Amino acid sequence: SSDKKTWIRQPIIVVLGHVDHGKTTLLDKIRGTAVAKKEPGEITQHVGASVVPASVLNKITEPLKKYFPKLVIEIPGLLFIDTPGHELFSNLRRRGGSVADMAILVVDVVEGFQPQTIEALNILKEKRVPFIVAANKIDRLEGWKAFPDTPFLESVKRQSPRTISILEERIYQLVGKLYEHGFESERFDRVKDFRRTVAIVPISAKTGEGISELLALIAGLAQQFMKKKLVTSEDAARGVVLEVKEEQGLGTTIDVIIYDGVLSKNDLFVVVGKNGPIVTRVRSLLMPRPLQDMRMHEGRFVQVDLVTAATGVKISAPGLEDALAGSPFYVIPSEDRIQEFTRMVQEEVSQIRFKGESDGVVLKADTLGTLEALLEALRRENIPVKLADVGHVTRNDVLEAAIVSKSKPEYGVILAFNVKILPEAEELRARENIPVFKHNIIYQLLEEYLKWFKEFKE
Ligand code: GDP
Ligand code: MG
Repeated sequence: SSDKKTWIRQPIIVVLGHVDHGKTTLLDKIRGTAVAKKEPGEITQHVGASVVPASVLNKITEPLKKYFPKLVIEIPGLLFIDTPGHELFSNLRRRGGSVADMAILVVDVVEGFQPQTIEALNILKEKRVPFIVAANKIDRLEGWKAFPDTPFLESVKRQSPRTISILEERIYQLVGKLYEHGFESERFDRVKDFRRTVAIVPISAKTGEGISELLALIAGLAQQFMKKKLVTSEDAARGVVLEVKEEQGLGTTIDVIIYDGVLSKNDLFVVVGKNGPIVTRVRSLLMPRPLQDMRMHEGRFVQVDLVTAATGVKISAPGLEDALAGSPFYVIPSEDRIQEFTRMVQEEVSQIRFKGESDGVVLKADTLGTLEALLEALRRENIPVKLADVGHVTRNDVLEAAIVSKSKPEYGVILAFNVKILPEAEELRARENIPVFKHNIIYQLLEEYLKWFKEFKE
């Protein structure tokens, strides 16, 4: 109805990039800065995420006002997903896209593009997530003089011409790499149209230089280009299961990122489980206990009655033992709509977990998110899939691969992502001589199989 309360939520931001390029350091720096600039009392820690509220964004970006007088923070803050990495990113899935509104692609400015940088770029492209590039570790450039926690635009003015030209050279190389992958890009202060050009922000996650520009830019782009998407209301919550976790005294819990609506204690909801949809009620909503009142024996979480998008929250509820990470999470507004909602999630998941008739590979993965990411990757390579499911490799999976192997041996294989091969499956596999490819990095799993595939075809 029209009198429904609506508001603009925090954009959901992920940080991606090659290992050791500085994702964790950057998130720590942002979190540390947020904590340091914060009035006490407000919770900024969410489950699986942390929020930099607008009040903090205003303080951090204050020194930039002389360059960008029109900079006004209108969003309530930024929600950063805490554990960066491709695998977790896969679990942020949402029908036809990602729960992430925007991404920061971290690239070590000295090392430049590396394999996982390219993988991250491909995922962002595939999921159509807008991003900016953080050219990190500028403090390591030859001759760089560090001015801790200053805007890049201040710091760069105090560098020698030689150091500036080294920086320009590095940025130019990034621009070239991005161009190879189909993106126009430019240093952020020279970008004219942010819808067409990817902004590159030189930063140091270690010294804090450029962090204010990075945050200002994300906030500015979000409020300029995605306000409509960020409007949410008192409607039933929607989200995604980021992780499924055992917690002492609570049993199996799910960590959920809520991107829309309001979630309350006792709400009825549906998630996908190993054996079909799980319909249950929220027993408790848990948020991390703020650090300052961390007391002994009180546990790491505090209970709350209600959360609003965007947020990360831990949910304890009966019957979550088989819940799958990467599953959609929907609150069911009333009991008479249970069937409608279970059908909806079943239909969505049948695109990802299936057993078909045609010859193709057998695919097993640890979560719905990684399974979907692998399926998309195989589809890009025109590799057919016969069976796709979450879980360890079973004897039955080997039998399926063995059948395929009789007519199409190049597809009669098992791809196992971050799962085990059960002993009785291994026995049969060895006897039937079915190749298995196992890895916990998506692109490496794919690469190994494709290499074998090409050799087989020769
Ligand atoms: P991740 O694997 O992407 O999460 O990378 P980390 O954040 O763990 O960083 C890898 C290494 O690079 C660590 O030793 C960091 O201290 C270092 N590092 C990260 N950012 C910077 C930076 O801006 N400057 C310098 N000099 N070192 C950095
Ligand atoms: Mg890390």
